[in-house]
Amino acid sequence: MLLVEDDESIADSVVVGLTGAGMEVAHVSTGRAALDAISLGAPDVVLLDLGLPDMDGLDLCKALRALSLVPIIIVSARGDELDRVLGLELGADDYVVKPFSLRELTARIKAVTRRSLGDADVLGFMPRDGRLVVDERTRIVTLDGTTIDLTTKEFDLLAYLWSEPGTVFRRSDILEHVWDINWYGTTKTLDAHIAAIRKKLGNPDWIQAVRGVGFKFVELTV
Ligand code: CA
Repeated sequence: MLLVEDDESIADSVVVGLTGAGMEVAHVSTGRAALDAISLGAPDVVLLDLGLPDMDGLDLCKALRALSLVPIIIVSARGDELDRVLGLELGADDYVVKPFSLRELTARIKAVTRRSLGDADVLGFMPRDGRLVVDERTRIVTLDGTTIDLTTKEFDLLAYLWSEPGTVFRRSDILEHVWDINWYGTTKTLDAHIAAIRKKLGNPDWIQAVRGVGFKFVELTV
């Protein structure tokens, strides 16, 4: 995991805590160093502070996302709604507001790195014909044969909706399934991810909003 944090005391406690929890943590304190580290090889998770000495964390988030699909968790004191939504729209997978507990941070890391293989077995996802194919085993999405790059949470969200075309999933059920049961963010998080997926699929009609309820996946044939 890569920790991008310029506050040495916070960085030290995160490194010590996560290392103690059995995770490998590399630490850099500037945006430049983070970009260099990512270009050398993607870590499994990036923990990203927004207030960095050499660049804005939101710009860095966007730049990291352009280089890699690595799960990004923004770790910041800037907890207002605007930053949360912006961060998620720029490709972050989750957001932890300082001060946070090690337990909370660890839970978020586990949630974004959780692979859905177990879920796939339980729910019985099967390959099916159609323009859009979501393969839970390889976590690859193709549209008309072309691979679509999605972040971890975007994939989980699309896979969930795609699993039952036409079924309207309630917002609360989506948040609970795709994020986790203790998710306390607003449904703006969900809206930001829906918007990002629609953009990547090139047509908003794949995922349709049902007012007052939630969202459904619609098989488009043209
Ligand atoms: Ca900082």
